[in-house]
Amino acid sequence: MRILLVEDEPTLRAQLREVLQAAAYAVDEADNGRDAHFLGDTETFDAVVLDLGLPVLDGLTVLKRWRDAGRTMPVLILTARDNWSEKVAGIDAGADDYLTKPFHWEELLARLRALIRRAAGQASPVLRCGDVQLDTRSGRVTLGGQPVVLTSHEFKVLDYLMHRPGAVVSRGELTEHIYAQDFDRDSNTIEVFVGRLRKKLPPGLIETVRGLGYRLVVA
Ligand code: CA
Repeated sequence: MRILLVEDEPTLRAQLREVLQAAAYAVDEADNGRDAHFLGDTETFDAVVLDLGLPVLDGLTVLKRWRDAGRTMPVLILTARDNWSEKVAGIDAGADDYLTKPFHWEELLARLRALIRRAAGQASPVLRCGDVQLDTRSGRVTLGGQPVVLTSHEFKVLDYLMHRPGAVVSRGELTEHIYAQDFDRDSNTIEVFVGRLRKKLPPGLIETVRGLGYRLVVA
């Protein structure tokens, strides 16, 4: 899953980036409203963490412009303490959730997981497909109750597919959602990750749909 992180305070942004990357998210960053608006308008994200107090263009305006343009990605806004009217304005502008600064990392991660699974139509934090379970909270994957050890990229591919069981997902779509923009993207590597996942998971779980992509077969 790929997150757009918009925060102008360098120390906080660096900390957030580290926390998000440690939680297996691909992270793109912006430190002002103009760059944030451009990235959110032109790239694909599974969620956005948007500080409202930003230079050049304020967060509320950025959010309104995205929504006016039909961009539907989940947006979690960061608001100043004791500023209730900012929360109301943010939610009315199209934010899906908010956090008041300062906040705990765990709460940010929990809210992001909830936004991402809701956007994918999933209610439970534990994703299941046959005997395979993926716990989005711990990042643990099990097969018939036994742990399956995955590399970070294998996990990212499986996580994306398990949020969309039964749906055809193209290699291009997977590439967009597991790599940040500055990463050297190569959609051929997706094939490699899927190949490795197939060796670790039940045969037939990840189906190749010729010319279109992959599909997680729902048992
Ligand atoms: Ca700020």
